[in-house]
Amino acid sequence: MLHRARHGWVEVVSGVMFSGKSEELIRRIRRALIAGRRVQLFKSHLDDRYGGQFRISSHDGRQIDAEPVSSSVQVAEKVRRETQVVAIDEAQFLDDGICEVVDALADAGMRVIVAGTDMDFRGEPFGPMGLLLARAERIDKLNAICVVCGDPATRNQRLIDGEPAPAEGPTIQVGGAESYEARCRRCHEVPKRDRAQKELFRTTLPAPPTA
Ligand code: ADP
Ligand code: ZN
Repeated sequence: MLHRARHGWVEVVSGVMFSGKSEELIRRIRRALIAGRRVQLFKSHLDDRYGGQFRISSHDGRQIDAEPVSSSVQVAEKVRRETQVVAIDEAQFLDDGICEVVDALADAGMRVIVAGTDMDFRGEPFGPMGLLLARAERIDKLNAICVVCGDPATRNQRLIDGEPAPAEGPTIQVGGAESYEARCRRCHEVPKRDRAQKELFRTTLPAPPTA
Protein backbone atom coordinates (compact mmCIF):
# COMPACT_ATOMS: atom_id res chain seq x y z
CA MET A 1 0.00 0.00 0.00
CA LEU A 2 2.98 2.31 0.51
CA HIS A 3 3.43 2.93 -3.21
CA ARG A 4 -0.14 4.20 -3.56
CA ALA A 5 -0.92 7.91 -3.52
CA ARG A 6 -2.62 8.66 -0.23
CA HIS A 7 -5.48 10.57 -1.74
CA GLY A 8 -7.81 9.48 -4.49
CA TRP A 9 -10.40 11.48 -6.38
CA VAL A 10 -13.31 11.22 -8.82
CA GLU A 11 -13.34 12.67 -12.37
CA VAL A 12 -16.48 12.70 -14.52
CA VAL A 13 -16.46 13.00 -18.31
CA SER A 14 -20.05 13.79 -19.28
CA GLY A 15 -21.95 15.10 -22.26
CA VAL A 16 -24.21 14.16 -25.12
CA MET A 17 -23.77 11.04 -27.28
CA PHE A 18 -21.05 11.47 -29.96
CA SER A 19 -19.31 14.17 -27.88
CA GLY A 20 -16.14 12.10 -27.54
CA LYS A 21 -16.50 10.81 -23.97
CA SER A 22 -15.15 7.38 -24.84
CA GLU A 23 -12.27 8.95 -26.80
CA GLU A 24 -11.41 11.10 -23.79
CA LEU A 25 -11.68 8.15 -21.40
CA ILE A 26 -9.35 6.11 -23.63
CA ARG A 27 -6.87 9.04 -23.78
CA ARG A 28 -6.78 9.24 -19.98
CA ILE A 29 -6.39 5.47 -19.62
CA ARG A 30 -3.54 5.37 -22.18
CA ARG A 31 -1.73 8.07 -20.22
CA ALA A 32 -2.27 6.21 -16.95
CA LEU A 33 -0.79 3.08 -18.59
CA ILE A 34 2.21 5.13 -19.81
CA ALA A 35 2.66 6.28 -16.22
CA GLY A 36 2.84 2.63 -15.21
CA ARG A 37 -0.39 2.72 -13.20
CA ARG A 38 -2.45 -0.41 -12.62
CA VAL A 39 -5.76 0.28 -14.40
CA GLN A 40 -9.12 -1.47 -14.49
CA LEU A 41 -11.84 -0.51 -16.98
CA PHE A 42 -15.53 -1.33 -16.60
CA LYS A 43 -18.41 -0.68 -18.95
CA SER A 44 -22.13 -1.37 -18.79
CA HIS A 45 -23.10 -4.71 -20.31
CA LEU A 46 -25.88 -2.75 -22.14
CA ASP A 47 -23.34 -1.12 -24.44
CA ASP A 48 -22.35 -3.58 -27.15
CA ARG A 49 -20.92 -1.11 -29.66
CA TYR A 50 -17.60 -2.92 -29.54
CA GLY A 51 -19.04 -6.37 -30.19
CA GLY A 52 -18.64 -7.44 -26.58
CA GLN A 53 -14.94 -6.61 -26.43
CA PHE A 54 -13.36 -3.25 -25.75
CA ARG A 55 -9.57 -3.29 -25.52
CA ILE A 56 -7.31 -0.29 -24.98
CA SER A 57 -3.65 -0.53 -25.94
CA SER A 58 -0.85 1.88 -25.10
CA HIS A 59 2.10 2.47 -27.45
CA ASP A 60 4.39 0.40 -25.25
CA GLY A 61 2.23 -2.65 -25.85
CA ARG A 62 0.35 -2.77 -22.56
CA GLN A 63 -3.34 -3.38 -22.93
CA ILE A 64 -6.45 -3.73 -20.84
CA ASP A 65 -9.87 -5.15 -21.63
CA ALA A 66 -13.13 -3.61 -20.43
CA GLU A 67 -14.92 -5.78 -17.89
CA PRO A 68 -18.72 -5.76 -18.46
CA VAL A 69 -20.84 -4.94 -15.38
CA SER A 70 -24.59 -4.70 -14.81
CA SER A 71 -24.62 -3.14 -11.32
CA SER A 72 -22.61 -1.00 -8.93
CA VAL A 73 -22.15 -4.03 -6.66
CA GLN A 74 -20.34 -5.84 -9.47
CA VAL A 75 -17.93 -2.90 -9.83
CA ALA A 76 -17.20 -3.06 -6.09
CA GLU A 77 -16.63 -6.83 -6.26
CA LYS A 78 -14.34 -6.72 -9.30
CA VAL A 79 -11.97 -3.92 -8.24
CA ARG A 80 -8.67 -5.42 -7.09
CA ARG A 81 -6.86 -4.08 -4.02
CA GLU A 82 -3.74 -3.22 -6.01
CA THR A 83 -5.62 -1.20 -8.69
CA GLN A 84 -4.66 2.48 -8.85
CA VAL A 85 -6.98 3.82 -11.57
CA VAL A 86 -10.60 2.70 -12.03
CA ALA A 87 -12.39 3.78 -15.22
CA ILE A 88 -16.12 3.27 -15.81
CA ASP A 89 -17.75 3.89 -19.22
CA GLU A 90 -21.50 4.29 -19.90
CA ALA A 91 -22.15 4.94 -16.20
CA GLN A 92 -25.65 6.33 -16.92
CA PHE A 93 -26.87 2.73 -17.18
CA LEU A 94 -25.75 1.84 -13.64
CA ASP A 95 -27.75 2.21 -10.41
CA ASP A 96 -27.38 5.07 -7.89
CA GLY A 97 -25.23 2.79 -5.69
CA ILE A 98 -22.33 3.63 -8.01
CA CYS A 99 -21.98 6.95 -6.10
CA GLU A 100 -21.09 5.17 -2.85
CA VAL A 101 -18.81 2.76 -4.72
CA VAL A 102 -16.77 5.49 -6.46
CA ASP A 103 -16.58 7.48 -3.20
CA ALA A 104 -15.27 4.41 -1.36
CA LEU A 105 -12.69 3.73 -4.10
CA ALA A 106 -11.50 7.36 -4.02
CA ASP A 107 -11.37 7.27 -0.22
CA ALA A 108 -9.18 4.16 -0.54
CA GLY A 109 -6.71 6.20 -2.62
CA MET A 110 -7.78 5.35 -6.16
CA ARG A 111 -8.26 7.71 -9.09
CA VAL A 112 -11.76 7.06 -10.45
CA ILE A 113 -12.69 8.22 -13.97
CA VAL A 114 -16.39 7.97 -14.83
CA ALA A 115 -17.78 8.61 -18.33
CA GLY A 116 -21.46 8.80 -19.15
CA THR A 117 -24.25 10.62 -20.96
CA ASP A 118 -25.56 13.19 -18.50
CA MET A 119 -29.03 13.64 -20.02
CA ASP A 120 -31.57 11.15 -21.26
CA PHE A 121 -33.49 11.70 -24.53
CA ARG A 122 -35.93 14.02 -22.70
CA GLY A 123 -33.15 16.28 -21.45
CA GLU A 124 -33.48 15.00 -17.84
CA PRO A 125 -30.56 13.78 -15.71
CA PHE A 126 -29.72 10.22 -16.79
CA GLY A 127 -29.54 7.57 -14.04
CA PRO A 128 -26.86 8.33 -11.43
CA MET A 129 -25.03 10.94 -13.57
CA GLY A 130 -26.40 14.01 -11.74
CA LEU A 131 -25.34 12.58 -8.39
CA LEU A 132 -21.90 11.63 -9.73
CA LEU A 133 -21.38 15.14 -11.16
CA ALA A 134 -22.22 16.63 -7.75
CA ARG A 135 -19.65 14.43 -5.98
CA ALA A 136 -16.76 14.61 -8.44
CA GLU A 137 -13.62 16.64 -7.83
CA ARG A 138 -13.32 17.33 -11.55
CA ILE A 139 -15.97 17.56 -14.24
CA ASP A 140 -15.65 17.87 -18.01
CA LYS A 141 -18.82 18.35 -20.03
CA LEU A 142 -18.21 17.72 -23.72
CA ASN A 143 -20.36 18.91 -26.63
CA ALA A 144 -20.99 17.25 -29.97
CA ILE A 145 -22.13 19.02 -33.14
CA CYS A 146 -25.87 19.53 -33.70
CA VAL A 147 -26.70 17.54 -36.83
CA VAL A 148 -29.50 20.03 -37.70
CA CYS A 149 -27.83 23.46 -37.38
CA GLY A 150 -24.11 22.88 -36.67
CA ASP A 151 -24.09 24.60 -33.25
CA PRO A 152 -22.60 22.83 -30.21
CA ALA A 153 -24.92 19.94 -29.28
CA THR A 154 -25.88 19.15 -25.69
CA ARG A 155 -28.97 16.93 -26.12
CA ASN A 156 -29.70 13.38 -27.26
CA GLN A 157 -32.46 13.33 -29.87
CA ARG A 158 -34.26 9.99 -29.95
CA LEU A 159 -35.91 9.26 -33.29
CA ILE A 160 -38.38 6.52 -34.13
CA ASP A 161 -38.67 5.93 -37.88
CA GLY A 162 -37.05 9.33 -38.36
CA GLU A 163 -39.55 11.23 -36.15
CA PRO A 164 -38.87 12.74 -32.66
CA ALA A 165 -39.78 10.14 -30.01
CA PRO A 166 -42.44 11.10 -27.42
CA ALA A 167 -41.48 11.76 -23.79
CA GLU A 168 -43.40 8.71 -22.48
CA GLY A 169 -40.95 6.18 -23.97
CA PRO A 170 -38.61 4.15 -21.74
CA THR A 171 -35.44 5.94 -20.60
CA ILE A 172 -33.16 3.09 -21.66
CA GLN A 173 -33.72 1.93 -25.22
CA VAL A 174 -30.84 0.03 -26.78
CA GLY A 175 -31.30 -1.36 -30.27
CA GLY A 176 -34.66 -1.62 -32.06
CA ALA A 177 -36.23 0.80 -34.57
CA GLU A 178 -35.06 3.96 -32.81
CA SER A 179 -31.87 5.91 -33.35
CA TYR A 180 -30.15 8.88 -31.77
CA GLU A 181 -28.75 12.19 -32.96
CA ALA A 182 -26.79 14.92 -31.19
CA ARG A 183 -28.71 18.22 -31.19
CA CYS A 184 -28.58 21.64 -29.54
CA ARG A 185 -31.27 22.93 -27.14
CA ARG A 186 -33.12 24.72 -29.94
CA CYS A 187 -33.25 21.76 -32.35
CA HIS A 188 -34.00 19.14 -29.66
CA GLU A 189 -37.62 17.92 -29.84
CA VAL A 190 -39.60 15.91 -27.27
CA PRO A 191 -43.23 16.09 -28.49
CA LYS A 192 -45.37 15.65 -25.34
CA ARG A 193 -42.98 17.44 -23.00
CA ASP A 194 -42.69 20.39 -25.41
CA ARG A 195 -46.47 20.85 -25.36
CA ALA A 196 -46.56 20.71 -21.54
CA GLN A 197 -43.71 23.21 -21.22
CA LYS A 198 -45.28 25.68 -23.63
CA GLU A 199 -48.49 25.49 -21.58
CA LEU A 200 -46.56 26.15 -18.34
CA PHE A 201 -44.77 29.07 -19.97
CA ARG A 202 -48.06 30.55 -21.14
CA THR A 203 -49.84 30.28 -17.77
CA THR A 204 -47.08 31.18 -15.27
CA LEU A 205 -45.10 33.97 -16.93
CA PRO A 206 -46.34 37.55 -17.24
CA ALA A 207 -47.37 38.57 -20.72
CA PRO A 208 -44.56 40.20 -22.73
CA PRO A 209 -44.69 44.00 -22.65
CA THR A 210 -46.45 45.59 -25.61
CA ALA A 211 -44.88 48.58 -27.26
P1 ADP B 1 -19.31 9.30 -26.95
O1 ADP B 1 -18.56 8.30 -26.10
O2 ADP B 1 -19.45 10.65 -26.28
O3 ADP B 1 -20.63 8.78 -27.48
P2 ADP B 1 -17.33 8.71 -28.94
O4 ADP B 1 -15.99 8.94 -28.31
O5 ADP B 1 -17.82 7.28 -29.03
O6 ADP B 1 -18.43 9.63 -28.22
O7 ADP B 1 -17.39 9.28 -30.41
C1 ADP B 1 -16.96 10.59 -30.74
C2 ADP B 1 -16.78 10.67 -32.27
O8 ADP B 1 -18.04 10.58 -32.90
C3 ADP B 1 -16.21 11.98 -32.76
O9 ADP B 1 -14.81 12.00 -32.72
C4 ADP B 1 -16.71 12.02 -34.21
O10 ADP B 1 -15.79 11.38 -35.07
C5 ADP B 1 -17.96 11.16 -34.19
N1 ADP B 1 -19.22 11.87 -34.42
C6 ADP B 1 -20.31 11.36 -35.04
N2 ADP B 1 -21.35 12.22 -35.03
C7 ADP B 1 -20.94 13.33 -34.39
C8 ADP B 1 -21.56 14.60 -34.04
N3 ADP B 1 -22.84 14.88 -34.36
N4 ADP B 1 -20.82 15.50 -33.36
C9 ADP B 1 -19.53 15.24 -33.03
N5 ADP B 1 -18.89 14.08 -33.33
C10 ADP B 1 -19.57 13.12 -34.00
ZN1 ZN C 1 -29.22 22.88 -33.54
